Amino acid sequence: MAWEYAPAPESRNIARLRTSYGMFIDGAFTGGTGGSFKTVNPATEEVLAEVAEAGQADVDRAVAAARKAYDKVWAPMPAAERGKYLFRIARMVQERSRELAVLESLDNGKPIREARDVDVPLVAAHFFYYAGWADKLGYAGFGPDPRPLGVAGQVIPWNFPLLMAAWKLAPALAAGNTCVLKPAETTPLTALVLAEICQQAGLPPGVVNVLPGAGETGRAVVTHPGVDKVAFTGSTDVGKQIARSLAGTRTKCTLELGGKAANIVFDDAPLDQAVEGIVNGIFFNQGHVCCAGSRLLVQESIADELLDKLKGRLATLRLGDPLDKNTDIGAINSAEQLAKIRELSDIGDAEGATRWSPPCELPEHGYWFPPTLFTGVSQAHRIAREEIFGPVLSVLTFRTPDEAVEKANNTPYGLSAGVWTDKGSRILWMAQRLRAGVVWANTFNKFDPASPFGGFKESGFGREGGRQGLEAYLCAGDGRSGT
Ligand code: NAP
Ligand code: MG
Repeated sequence: MAWEYAPAPESRNIARLRTSYGMFIDGAFTGGTGGSFKTVNPATEEVLAEVAEAGQADVDRAVAAARKAYDKVWAPMPAAERGKYLFRIARMVQERSRELAVLESLDNGKPIREARDVDVPLVAAHFFYYAGWADKLGYAGFGPDPRPLGVAGQVIPWNFPLLMAAWKLAPALAAGNTCVLKPAETTPLTALVLAEICQQAGLPPGVVNVLPGAGETGRAVVTHPGVDKVAFTGSTDVGKQIARSLAGTRTKCTLELGGKAANIVFDDAPLDQAVEGIVNGIFFNQGHVCCAGSRLLVQESIADELLDKLKGRLATLRLGDPLDKNTDIGAINSAEQLAKIRELSDIGDAEGATRWSPPCELPEHGYWFPPTLFTGVSQAHRIAREEIFGPVLSVLTFRTPDEAVEKANNTPYGLSAGVWTDKGSRILWMAQRLRAGVVWANTFNKFDPASPFGGFKESGFGREGGRQGLEAYLCAGDGRSGT
C-alpha cells in the first residue's frame, strides 16, 4: 500500500528566476540577433522566462570570441592555472547547488529529489574530476605532450541540461580548448546560470560562450568553419545529419546518441534489488535517459514472480509536483515529447502488447505520462526496437544466457545494459558479449566522472568521462596519434 505523505514542496524562490535571460558571449550577457523565445515549466505550462535566441551573427561572434580567447589566453596559460578555474567553478556549483537544482526542476520537469541528489552533485564532481586532470594531460595516455584542438562547438539535449553542459565543458576546458555551447531550446536556464558562474569565477572572456536557441542555432554552431571540434548529445537522427555535414572536413566529432538498453534479470538474481534497479533504470528522470533500461529481459521461470513484485512497486511511485521532495516521477519535458511517448505506446497496443499502469492520477495542467509497462512484447514490436524516451518499459522473456545475449544485442543501439545475477562468472561472461558501452552489474544508471560513457553502433562514438573523455579534446603534440 502507498503511504500518504504531507506535501513537502521546495520553495521556487530559491531558483532566483528572472523574467528574461540573455546569451553569454565573450564574457558578457547580451541580447542577440535572433529574437527571443519562451521557456516553460512543463509541470504547469507556465512561462518561466523569455530567453534571447542566438542567430547566425551571434554564432559568428561567439566563435570569434572563443578563437581569440584560445589563441591569446587559454591555450598559452599554464595548465595548473586552467585547473584552478575549474576547481573554482566546481566549488561555486556546490555553493549554488540548491538554486541550480530548483531551477533545473522548474525548467525540465524532473523531480527536485533527482536534480538535488543526482544532477547537481554530478555536475560539481565532473568539474572537480577534470580540474584534477588539467595539469596531468601528459600522463593521460595520449602522448607526452598532448595539445588542445581549438574551439569546441557543443550541442546538448534537454534531459540533463546542466549535467550535459558539465560533461561537455569540463573536459574541453581542462584540455585547453575554448567552448561555444548550445543548450536545448526547452531547457536553457541552468546553462545560463553556469555561464554566470564562469563569469563570477573570473574565467577569461570568450573561454566559455553559451548560445540559447533551437535546432537552427545548433546547426549554425556545428557547421561553423571556425569550429575545430564538434561534440553532440541528442537524437540519432540529428547525430547522423551532423556526421554527414562534417564528413570530409577536418573537424573532429563525437556523438552521444540514443539507446534501447536491455536490463537482464536471471533466475538467481536478488529479486527485490532487481526490482529497484528496474525502476531506477526506466523511471528515473521520467525515462528521459539515453541509457535507460527500457527493455526488461527476464528469465522465463521467474517472470511472473518478478512482474508481480514490479507492479507492486510501481503502485508506490508518486507522480506529481516536481518541486515536492517526495515526488518520484515528474513531468514530461515538452508537449512534443509527450506526443511521441503516446504515439509509440499506442503502437504498442495496436501491435498486440498488453499495457499496464498503476492507478495514478495525472495533474490537470502540464505534460504527464503514468509509469507504464508492456508485457507480451516481441522483438519485432516497435516498442521493443525504438527509443521511447519516456516512462515506458517493454518486458520480454528469455530462457538461456545465449538467448539473453542475442535478444539484448538485437538492436541498432548499444549504449548500456544491465545484468542481474548472483554469479560473478556469469556477469563477466555476459559483459564480454553485450555490445554496449556500459554494462551495469546488479545495479543500473550509476554514473561517476571517472568512468567513461558512450556507445556502440547507432548510439554514437567517442567517450565522455574518465581519462578517455579527454581524448576527444586533444591531439598528440609529438606527431603520434592518440591511443
Ligand atoms: P535532438 O533534436 O537531437 O536535440 C538535441 C540538441 O540538438 C538540441 O539542443 C537541439 O536543439 C539540437 N539540434 C536539433 N537539430 C539540430 C541540427 N540539425 N544541428 C545541430 N543541432 C541540432 O533531440 P530532442 O529533440 O531533444 O529529442 C529527440 C529524441 O532524441 C528523444 O526522443 C531521444 O530519443 C533522443 N535523445 C537522446 C539523448 C541522449 O542523451 N542520447 C538526449 C535527448 C534526446 P533543440 O533544443 O532546439 O531541439
Ligand atoms: Mg522549459
